[in-house]
Amino acid sequence: MLSHYPRFRKGAAQGLVPKLGGLPWGLPAERWPVCEECGRPMSHLAQLPADPAVLPGVADGEVLFAFKCEWDSVCSFWEVDGGANAVFTVPRQALADAPTPVPVVEDGTPELLPELAVTHWHAADDGAPAELEEAFYDYGKHSDLPDEIAHPHDWASEWRTKAGGVPYWTANGAQQVPPGRLVLQIDNWVALEEGGTTEVANFCSDGTAYVFVDRSQTPPVYSLIINR
Ligand SMILES: [Zn+2]
Repeated sequence: MLSHYPRFRKGAAQGLVPKLGGLPWGLPAERWPVCEECGRPMSHLAQLPADPAVLPGVADGEVLFAFKCEWDSVCSFWEVDGGANAVFTVPRQALADAPTPVPVVEDGTPELLPELAVTHWHAADDGAPAELEEAFYDYGKHSDLPDEIAHPHDWASEWRTKAGGVPYWTANGAQQVPPGRLVLQIDNWVALEEGGTTEVANFCSDGTAYVFVDRSQTPPVYSLIINR
């Protein structure tokens, strides 16, 4: 199925540019999510403005923001309902025209994740036939798929960060599947255009983060999980 694979560069331009990490642009301070487990502000993981060709799960005029707790790595940020991650959209008109300052709490500030600009998206087939899409959202059906369909490319990292298509599951398979369809997934480490690789965030050291959207609800409900 058609997927879009991002290319990254360290540092991003100001404004509503597609990026990972850094500070969110214009997010009202009261919307900076707080971890339900430790009660401290989470770290900004991704800012992705609507881009119908690449992110059909994000409505026109909306910006997708993702956050996760990075404090001491003790909160259950990999769980869909642990309250230690957050993903949501905000209409562009509701955003200010400046970076959102990092919130300060009693024991400091949340970890600022490396800012990585998405310089472009490379379109490619993810290797999954459209008629088998459903199997990628079911643990048993997915594990019954032939290896070359379930996980082509031998889990090479460059195929594990993408938007659209079906989830490229980690070795544990479809063990946590929130309702809806994949919007994008981000591997623990990504390659940089200038050479080398960088760690995106703490995804349990070698996991992959998956963002889903359930469009059967109004407004659509987004969720984030991390699988290893
Ligand atoms: Zn926490």
